[in-house]
Amino acid sequence: MIDSHTHSAHSADSVMPLFDLINTAVALKLDYLAVTDHLDRDFLYCTNSKPIKQLDIPKYAEAMREAKKIYDGKIKLAFGIECGYSEKSQKMTFDDVTPLNTDVVINSVHTVKDEDVYVPAYYENKTKDEVFLPYINAVLKSLDIALPYDIVGHIGYIARKAPFRFLYEDYDGLLDEIFKKIIQKGKCVEINTHVKFAKADFFPEYDFIKRYRELGGELITFSSDAHQTFRVAEKYDLAAHAVKQAGFKYFAAYIDHKPEFYKI
Ligand SMILES: [Zn+2]
Ligand SMILES: [Zn+2]
Repeated sequence: MIDSHTHSAHSADSVMPLFDLINTAVALKLDYLAVTDHLDRDFLYCTNSKPIKQLDIPKYAEAMREAKKIYDGKIKLAFGIECGYSEKSQKMTFDDVTPLNTDVVINSVHTVKDEDVYVPAYYENKTKDEVFLPYINAVLKSLDIALPYDIVGHIGYIARKAPFRFLYEDYDGLLDEIFKKIIQKGKCVEINTHVKFAKADFFPEYDFIKRYRELGGELITFSSDAHQTFRVAEKYDLAAHAVKQAGFKYFAAYIDHKPEFYKI
């Protein structure tokens, strides 16, 4: 089992101590764990939410260096970062992340046109197209950033809070474009089981994964996006089953930005 996306207390939205997270993964006998704390430079430009505490990069990097030494031989531990994309913050993110000795970088969209899509008011008086089209376009743009990222974070994240279902068939042209670009760039899609209140088991949903495979997609990984110990590797079996059914045989897991393959 692997888990490519988790958050410790170095993230503003988690209180899980780093060692609790890693010990949980060891106890669950995971082969691989990536800790991917949030770098939310996009929120510095956000107009509809309060400022959030930013990642202390040197402190986090040092903690991961230490942890890698301590857990050597016990679990394959990856130093990761989940970067929130926005047009305005992408240069700052690039400058912050590029010099670091990371193993894996997740490129995620949490804000659209400088607005946090987690705020319920974001959806007031918006039609389905007004909700999904700007989000899809933000994901499409995010794929072209200079940042050396490996994984495209939780495609469909907006459906966690949106009052509509996010269906592939409604936006298949643009979504095909997204997956074709991911394949062409050699990036990896994650199956993220942290869905909160959405009527889905994971994002992207099964139709998305299936289409990604049909288009020739090969790189896929498992992500619990755990912020608490009991969520580490949550719904792994469910996600693995779906991915297998869609035609994938291996999960990719990154060390030093190179994929290693784990049989599903
Ligand atoms: Zn995220
Ligand atoms: Zn996350």
